[in-house]
Amino acid sequence: MPHQLHSLSSRYRVKTVLLILLAIIAVSLTVVARPALHLVRAALHDRDEILPLPPGTVDDASRLNPTRMQLVQVSSELSTAKEQLRTVLKEAKAQGKKVTMAGSRHTMGGQTIYPDGISLDMTRFKQMQLNTTTQILTVQSGATWSAIIPYLNQQGYSVAVMQSNNDFSVGGTMSANAHGWQHDSPPFASTVESFRLMLADGTVVQCSRKENAELFSLVLGGYGLFGIILDVNLKVALNELYSAQRVIIPSEDYVETYQRRVSADVGMVYGRLSVAPDSFLSEAILTTYHKVTAEPEGALTTPSQAGLARTVFRGSVDSDYGKNLRWQLEKASGGEAGTSVSRNQIMNRPSTLFENHRQTETDILHEYFIPPESLELFLEKCREIIPKYKLDLLNVTVRNVELDSDSYLRYADQEMFGLVMLFHQQRRASDEAEMRSLTQELVEAALEVGGRYYLPYRLHSTPEQFHRAYPQATKFFQLKRQYDPDETFQNYFYTQYGR
Ligand SMILES: Cc1cc2nc3c(=O)[nH]c(=O)nc-3n(C[C@H](O)[C@H](O)[C@H](O)COP(=O)(O)OP(=O)(O)OC[C@H]3O[C@@H](n4cnc5c(N)ncnc54)[C@H](O)[C@@H]3O)c2cc1C
Repeated sequence: MPHQLHSLSSRYRVKTVLLILLAIIAVSLTVVARPALHLVRAALHDRDEILPLPPGTVDDASRLNPTRMQLVQVSSELSTAKEQLRTVLKEAKAQGKKVTMAGSRHTMGGQTIYPDGISLDMTRFKQMQLNTTTQILTVQSGATWSAIIPYLNQQGYSVAVMQSNNDFSVGGTMSANAHGWQHDSPPFASTVESFRLMLADGTVVQCSRKENAELFSLVLGGYGLFGIILDVNLKVALNELYSAQRVIIPSEDYVETYQRRVSADVGMVYGRLSVAPDSFLSEAILTTYHKVTAEPEGALTTPSQAGLARTVFRGSVDSDYGKNLRWQLEKASGGEAGTSVSRNQIMNRPSTLFENHRQTETDILHEYFIPPESLELFLEKCREIIPKYKLDLLNVTVRNVELDSDSYLRYADQEMFGLVMLFHQQRRASDEAEMRSLTQELVEAALEVGGRYYLPYRLHSTPEQFHRAYPQATKFFQLKRQYDPDETFQNYFYTQYGR
C-alpha cells in the first residue's frame, strides 16, 4: 500500500513537472517566439522593390505624382548658374512653359511639379561659407542639411532651426518654412537674415527684413511661386552636448508636462504619441535634451541603416500586434535616455532610414498645428476620426513652434504644437479617395479647435478649407501675380489653391 501511494505521488509529481514545463514553453513561445516570428516575417516582407521612373518623368516623396517634365540640372557655379537660369526663363516665356524649382523633392503634393513644365534641379547648386565672426552661413539654395551639418560641425557650429531629418535642401526648407525639434523658436524663417532671388524676368533682388521686405515674407513659406532662391544668409547656433531624458505620460498631461520640464537648460525637445491599439493617441513619450557643460564629440556619424529599429517599425504596418510590440519595446528600451549626444548628431539623421520600399505602397505625412490649450480636444477628435478609415496610422510625433512673425502665409500665428502623422496607404485610387476624405475630416477638426495644417503634403483639403486655414491666401496669390505677371512659376499647389 505505501509503495502504491509512493508511485502514485511520484506520477503526480512527474505530471506536474510536465505541466509546468509545457506552461513555460507556452509562455516562452508567446513572449519570445511570437515577437521573433513577427519580426522575421516583417524583415522578409521589407524588400526594396521600387522601380526607377521612366526617363523624362519626375515625382515627389509621395510617389503618387509621376509627371513628364523637362529636367534642367542647375550648374554649381554662381555666374554660370545665373546665365543658365536666365536662358531657361527666357525660353520658358517664349514657349509659354511653366517653371518649377526642386531641392530634395520631399514635398508630397506636386509643389515641385507642373505637367510638361521645366523642372530646375537645384541640388548641385550647393556651395557654402561660414563667417565665424558674424555667425552667418552663406549657402546656395540646393545644399542639403546632410552637407551643411558636417561642415558646421567641423567649426563647432550647428543649424539653428531645421526639420527633424537631414535630407532637405535649404531652398525647400525656406519655401515650406519648416520647423523641427528646436522647441523654443519660431519656424525656419526666423533664422534667415537675407537671400538673393531671381525673378521671372531674370533680375536678381536682395531680400531681407529691410530690403524688399514684402518679397522676403512671401518667399519664406511661398512654395517657389515668386522666383528662384539663389543664396541665403542664415544665422547658425553653437553645437552643444545634450543629455537625453524622457518621461512616459498620458496624452492629456502632455502640455502641462512639457511646460514643466522645458527649462532654460533644454536645447531640443520632441514627443511621440502611441499609435498602438492598447493606448491609441492616449499615451506619450516626451524626450528632452538637456545641455551638458562638456565639449561635443568631434566626429559625426551618418547612420546608413536602422537595423532592428526599422524592422520593428515596418513590422507595425497593418498589424495591431506589431504596433503594440513597437510601443512596448520603445517604452521598455528607454530610447536615448541617459546618454549624451551632440546637437549635430541628433539632427544628422536621414529620413530614408524608415521609408517604405514597396512598389505598391507609400507612406504619407500630415501635420496639424494645434494651440496648446486645444491639444487634448483635438486628440479626442482624432481618436474618433482615424479608426473609421482603413488607412494605417504608423507614427505621430509632437513638436512645439513659437509665433512666426516673418512669413506671409504663416501657420504659426501663435504658439502651436505640431502633430506630425505618418499614414500608410496603397498606391491606388480607392486609397487616395480614403486619404482625401480622412484629411478633410482631420483638417476640419484642427480648424474647429483653432488650429491649422501644414502645406508641403498632399493637397487633399478643399480650397474652402485652405482659405479658412490661411485667410491671408487670397492676398498672397494676388501678390504672386503682381511679382510674376506671366505666372511663370507654377506647381500643383498653385493650380489647386491659387487660381
Ligand atoms: C520624411 C519627411 C520628413 C519631414 N519632416 C519635416 C519636419 O520635421 N519639419 C518640417 O517642417 N517639415 C518636414 N517635412 C516637410 C519638408 O520640410 C518640406 O517638404 C520641404 O519643402 C522639403 O525640402 P525639399 O528640399 O525636399 O523641397 P522640395 O520638395 O524639393 O521643394 C519644396 C518647395 O520649395 C521650392 N523650392 C525648392 N528649391 C527652391 C529654390 N531654390 N528657389 C525657390 N523655390 C524652391 C519648390 O518649388 C517647392 O515648392 C518632411 C517631409 C518628409 C517627406
